[in-house]
Amino acid sequence: MSFEAFRVTPGTSVDLASWPTRSDVGWDRGKEEGKRRVEVLAARLAELQELFYADGGHRLLAVLQAMDTAGKDSTIRDVFGRMNPQGVRVASFKKPTARELAHDYLWRVHPHVPGDGEIVIFNRSHYEDVLVVRVDGLAPEERWRKRYDHIVEFERMLSDEGTTIVKFFIHISREEQAERLQARLDDPGKHWKFDPGDIETRKKWDDYMAAYAEMLGRTSTEFAPWYVIPGDRKWYRKLAIGEIVVGVMEGLGLEYPEAPDLDGVVIE
Ligand code: ATP
Ligand code: MG
Repeated sequence: MSFEAFRVTPGTSVDLASWPTRSDVGWDRGKEEGKRRVEVLAARLAELQELFYADGGHRLLAVLQAMDTAGKDSTIRDVFGRMNPQGVRVASFKKPTARELAHDYLWRVHPHVPGDGEIVIFNRSHYEDVLVVRVDGLAPEERWRKRYDHIVEFERMLSDEGTTIVKFFIHISREEQAERLQARLDDPGKHWKFDPGDIETRKKWDDYMAAYAEMLGRTSTEFAPWYVIPGDRKWYRKLAIGEIVVGVMEGLGLEYPEAPDLDGVVIE
């Protein structure tokens, strides 16, 4: 599968400047057909989710991380949004509350992981604790630096216990982000989406890229791989993530449970 080109090989170091933000790897039929493909993938994921739920023997966790405006929300809507809400949950990780801050950083995360037959999407995640925490100096380096190992072991435990994990970093260029923020400013209908804090975060772009790069290199594993998804084209980002998730789910060997013997059963 050509989208495997976006998988970060475990144990390698990552230089994000050499990973594309714009690509059409694996797709040569253009934007309009690409958008239609996203719809087909979303429908396929809905079918697979029903089978996943019926099978009941797996747990699936998809992690989404990205800079502001990269499209985590619209990916959730357009790729995962056709699934049955009864079997899917989205967990969004915002600034920790005082109570959360009074605990270790995984304390608030663990209760949200998927149970049997469940699919959970992390909209931001425990990775913020080696990203914003690092860039803004919210914890001393000797504290956050140990977290790469904790996180790998946490995910290893989830995997050993039956959770399939797939992680996506949506990679947009600084220029593309400028256009999207400007578009939000220029359109009153989009002002609600505009967060002045995003401008402050944008000023630290290079620090974020360094933090993301180290995170990707240190925490991409065989059991919980990172994919770096080119994000400047919205349709392609959704297509690539959709294809990868479909591939992961098709690879699980899902089966409907054996039906009872219904021969001769008649409803009166
Ligand atoms: P959107 O803007 O599309 O609603 P979002 O994910 O950007 O989605 P916000 O409420 O704007 O949501 O941002 C959440 C903020 O919480 C981010 O700035 C993020 O860095 C911050 N955050 C998340 N986890 C942590 C953490 N562990 N420590 C400190 N800040 C965190
Ligand atoms: Mg935001």
